[in-house]
Amino acid sequence: MAGTGIFTDILDGDVYKYYSDGEWKTSSSGKSVAIINPATRKTQYKVQACTQEEVNKVMEMAKSAQKSWAKTPLWKRAELLHKAAAILKDNKAPIAESLVKEIAKPAKDSVTEVVRSGDLISYCAEEGVRILGEGKFLLSDSFPGNERTKYCLTSKIPLGVVLAIPPFNYPVNLAVSKIAPALIAGNSLVLKPPTQGAVSCLHMVHCFHLAGFPKGLISCITGKGSEIGDFLTMHPAVNCISFTGGDTGISISKKAGMIPLQMELGGKDACIVLEDADLDLVASNIIKGGFSYSGQRCTAVKVVLVMESVANELVEKVKAKVAKLTVGPPEENCDITAVVSESSANFIEGLVMDAKDKGATFCQEYKRQGNLIWPLLLDNVKPDMRIAWEEPFGPVLPVLRISSVEEGINHCNASNFGLQGCVFTKDINKAMLISDAMETGTVQINSAPARGPDHFPFQGLKDSGIGSQGVTNSINLMTKVKTTVINLPTPSYSMGEGFISRL
Ligand code: NAP
Repeated sequence: MAGTGIFTDILDGDVYKYYSDGEWKTSSSGKSVAIINPATRKTQYKVQACTQEEVNKVMEMAKSAQKSWAKTPLWKRAELLHKAAAILKDNKAPIAESLVKEIAKPAKDSVTEVVRSGDLISYCAEEGVRILGEGKFLLSDSFPGNERTKYCLTSKIPLGVVLAIPPFNYPVNLAVSKIAPALIAGNSLVLKPPTQGAVSCLHMVHCFHLAGFPKGLISCITGKGSEIGDFLTMHPAVNCISFTGGDTGISISKKAGMIPLQMELGGKDACIVLEDADLDLVASNIIKGGFSYSGQRCTAVKVVLVMESVANELVEKVKAKVAKLTVGPPEENCDITAVVSESSANFIEGLVMDAKDKGATFCQEYKRQGNLIWPLLLDNVKPDMRIAWEEPFGPVLPVLRISSVEEGINHCNASNFGLQGCVFTKDINKAMLISDAMETGTVQINSAPARGPDHFPFQGLKDSGIGSQGVTNSINLMTKVKTTVINLPTPSYSMGEGFISRL
């Protein structure tokens, strides 16, 4: 159970502690932040509301711990990460339980998130050992006008303190996707978990604590993003920000100093369906892509753009599958569970009502109880409706009928977002051309958009992000290239003759 067994240290009465200097602490603020269970709408957990002084302290320690961590051999850093991954996987049950209670993620998917996170940490440790163990050796005489008098050695060095801010929907996975690359690369790490998802993150951090990482290297500051977010992101000790979330990321980018940013933001992933597509395959992918975790995924299918000639058939197939989706508590592994908050449910309802007023066809009756919204497919959506452009982050999916592929591509490219997209057709040549034309970071051919596997590059164009994720890209982003140049008094050509006379 959450907060028990090996996790008792992280709880003070009914409030979870924050993690600083290798210890679990109670904030001097005397205040806590409530985490509301999305399904029951009652307070499930409480976390510390950390103060600015506590942030300052954490940053100070992160700076100093990083200096000795950078001198820790790479294989030792990897060994500790493997240990943390094993502890995390061994303790998947209480962590998954917190995910169920604080973000209403179905129980099975919650376990999957924790196991996937353990695998990501291990993969990162292995990849780090390989790519950080290699450098480059360059010779000066390849550039015009130069003799071979300079040897240039390159290696990758850490940036310093990395600030990680994940969102509520994959709090554990999107936290470790920042923590593991930062640590293997020799950085220290300050985590600010999402409020909904904080308790799962605190359990995950305890697994790193138990693995034996040095004091101060990893810290976890809790509190509302709206209250301590700016102080954290503009803190002078921070050398890199890795953020995943919504538009908040855009304002952070504008305020952050001259430091590397990894921003994975929102999306409005389009699913373009051509006339020759396998409609059963499309329907299954629309269900998986549009309704998994109640549509609260950055890479959810968020708009279907289907050729008019096959639209009726596709809509019927999707409707039949929507009817089979189970709706209810996450503990019972229902497909559709409560969305994360009342404000989120109200926002989704606003999009639905706007579509209703403007004449969209409702394939199911709109139904809501508290934060629980029944899955809804909206057909005949037109570009003047908000839902054609905005990200509902809920189990509501618009279908726009198109009369040409160009119309679909234009709709996709007119969006402010450019995360992923997908195209369904049996013609691979056409699919490649459409992929080239779509202004998104990734295009999936004949499958719904997806962030994983976690070692694939993952990036958004336009308002969907800055930089690229995926294990290798994250390690590279959290390092800087350092070069040392050896200057020789005479040119040095390997296997050259006249060695003695040149000496
Ligand atoms: P969000 O509201 O932007 O919050 C994300 C994180 O930012 C949370 O930890 C939040 O903390 C924190 N935060 C809030 N205000 C802040 C501030 N002023 N300074 C610093 N941090 C601040 O997003 P969300 O609702 O959790 O997640 C949904 C969004 O994430 C969607 O738009 C989705 O598309 C996007 N997303 C993108 C990806 C991707 O990889 N592209 C993946 C998953 C989700 P609090 O919880 O305490 O407010």
